[in-house]
Amino acid sequence: MPVEKLYTFDRSEALLERARHVVPGGIYGHQSPQLLSPGSYPNFFARGEGCRIWDVDGNEYIDFMCSYGPIVLGHRHPKVEKAARAQLEQLDCPNMPSERWVDLAELLVSITPWASWAVFGKNGSDATSWSVAVARARTGRNKVIMAEGAYHGSHPWCTPNPTGTTEGERMDVVTFEYNNSEDLRRVANEHRGQVAAIILCPFRHDVFHNQEMPAPGFHDGVRSLCDREGIVLILDDVRAGFRLHMGGSGEVLGLQPDLTCYSKAVGNGYAISTVLGREELRETAQQVYFTGSFFTAAASMAAAIATINALRDEDGIKKMEVAGTRFREGLDQQARSLGLRITQSGPPAIPFLTFDNDQAFERSRLWAGECARRGVFLAPFHNWFLCAAHGEADIDEALVATEGAFKVVKDKFGG
Ligand code: PMP
Repeated sequence: MPVEKLYTFDRSEALLERARHVVPGGIYGHQSPQLLSPGSYPNFFARGEGCRIWDVDGNEYIDFMCSYGPIVLGHRHPKVEKAARAQLEQLDCPNMPSERWVDLAELLVSITPWASWAVFGKNGSDATSWSVAVARARTGRNKVIMAEGAYHGSHPWCTPNPTGTTEGERMDVVTFEYNNSEDLRRVANEHRGQVAAIILCPFRHDVFHNQEMPAPGFHDGVRSLCDREGIVLILDDVRAGFRLHMGGSGEVLGLQPDLTCYSKAVGNGYAISTVLGREELRETAQQVYFTGSFFTAAASMAAAIATINALRDEDGIKKMEVAGTRFREGLDQQARSLGLRITQSGPPAIPFLTFDNDQAFERSRLWAGECARRGVFLAPFHNWFLCAAHGEADIDEALVATEGAFKVVKDKFGG
């Protein structure tokens, strides 16, 4: 039997060591190596093409993180690159917006059945924070209801790590247990007349958790509550947007929002976020300040237009579902035949796998690291992402690596 050749990460490790001298922690945020699988995981990447990425040691991976979401068509999609480059050759950072500003807003509104306007920022956090401000301006109320443990960005009101924030910045955010309509009603009643917004992801995709789809009736209940109490319903589709439906994840999961936030996938890796809104919120939207030095940047808008058109033309959402389903079925079969107990959750295009009885995520970390050493890049504690460039052959190749990694977990932990 041929001996498996496992990747090594010498250059990645050396770069991390250099980074530690000049960047606090070396790498921070959710990419922090301490959270991942130190020693069996790359720290720095050099190149991407389709569903493949190469790290600074030259190791090649099939990418199941897609840059934590933005890469929805595949790295360096030719049509997106061409559109962005053409715009770069004209003007990227204008005094006043370019034509792409109008083109993109028209395109987004045309594919979103309930929306009549769009605004643009750079990050998902720009979009969620501004949406909350619009809700407050509209209602004259302060409180925001969100699901316990949900992620809506890194700004002080919602960062999961409150270090450096003040009590004042966070005191108007109240939480309920996801999918528990009764708990939501309790929280809404407790703050009756004070709630400006309910902000929800289209399904539960919190880190360190199995993903959870909305329970039957949950979304309808949220909509009725908002209508009854005059609360603005914000859909945070930053993570799931453009992977389930071109008109927003609410279209497939039965949620009718007043505002929807997108970022990640809109520009296939180019920095852009957007909020789409209902007609009734147009006037308020006009009054709530929203700006940034790069908010009018035109190349990312050209990229977004090309991304949306290519996703539609290539039937990208269907491709992700097909590839994700193939991956899930293969993983399931491998785990079963090895007697490993796992749970797979979420939609096939945004999948996740946990090991049962693995509270500290030790098995997950080992497995993700062993996948990386065999050429499959995925995260141990955060959901994964398919892209439209994942084909059958890529999935089958990835499954060879995942099987080897499962065997290591089995050897170390048993069933
Ligand atoms: N909302 C959700 C659901 C997200 O997944 C993220 C990013 N992970 C954000 C908001 C914040 O987006 P950004 O990191 O671009 O500010």
